Amino acid sequence: MKNIFGMTVPEISQVLKEWNIAPYRAKQIAEWMYQRNAVSFEEMTNLPKTLRQKLMENFMFFRAELKARLDSQDGSTTKFLLSFADGIAVETVLMRHSYGNSICVSTQAGCNIGCAFCASTLHGLDRNLTRGEILSQVIFINELLKTEGKKVDTVVIMGSGEPLMNYENVVGFIRLLHEPYCLYMGYRNVTLSTSGIVPEIYALAEENIQITLSISLHAANQDLRTRLMPINNKFPLKDVVAAAKNYGDKTKRRVTYEYILIKDLNDTDDFAAALAGLLRGQLASVNLIPINPVIERDFQRPSQERIDAFEACLTRHHVTVTVRREMGRDIQAACGQLRNKYLVQ
Ligand code: SF4
Repeated sequence: MKNIFGMTVPEISQVLKEWNIAPYRAKQIAEWMYQRNAVSFEEMTNLPKTLRQKLMENFMFFRAELKARLDSQDGSTTKFLLSFADGIAVETVLMRHSYGNSICVSTQAGCNIGCAFCASTLHGLDRNLTRGEILSQVIFINELLKTEGKKVDTVVIMGSGEPLMNYENVVGFIRLLHEPYCLYMGYRNVTLSTSGIVPEIYALAEENIQITLSISLHAANQDLRTRLMPINNKFPLKDVVAAAKNYGDKTKRRVTYEYILIKDLNDTDDFAAALAGLLRGQLASVNLIPINPVIERDFQRPSQERIDAFEACLTRHHVTVTVRREMGRDIQAACGQLRNKYLVQ
């Protein structure tokens, strides 16, 4: 049976039309699901009983369910393990910043991209998440924040999975999030992070949705990037940067490049200069991420002096750079670690 959670108003209207029911009911159903926290059709009390019965007979109504939760000691970060109808579970992270609440959603259960520094890929890919399953992570946390008089302000698509390998569901999710009957979130409040799936980066530039594109770069030369990210064999560094530049040119949005700093691997001034050279002439900024050591992997965090020196070198080369503030280190905020713990239990 199809899950109604994740359907758009036009899609629901189409079903209602086949049932000879007025299309305005579709918006009521969507509002119950996405804005009024209904967990069953029975709660949709402004719908006729006969319609609720028909919906029940034809659709499943499943939202994300909480399996586990970890709060950082400073209260800034909460990691949730959320499960779906078939029992599969993914991580979603809430980060409370002074400027608003940001959440990081997963788009696949597991991942098969194989980045060397990532815990999400250790058990491979289970499956793509549907549009509704991605949305249900946002709605779950938004409902939680509502009880504190708050809401989800920004969404980063940076949890487990490669979003551009699940293109239709991810773009459908972003469009649904933007609908007035859903969270009415501005496209500019959404960031999508990719390991560099070149054809889909070009496709995304044509979608007419002005989200921020973030490229997981992590190395400024072909060989080292291939060692860290095997996908670089298929989509070489120069093609990824060209596709990202095209995205920036088309959307007029600044592209962000993420660069995980790993001790003695990619953290020298020479690498910083190469990175600056690669991005010359682009509307771009670099986000430095000192690595959060992954228990299952053998990478170390550089010293604070080295991190500062790398940042300073980029600045000298006129690259806009930020260093990601550490949040939730005490709750294993590196992506995939809570889920892996759950999988091996
Ligand atoms: S960093 Fe992202 S794309 Fe790479 S393996 Fe992890 S989840 Fe997949």
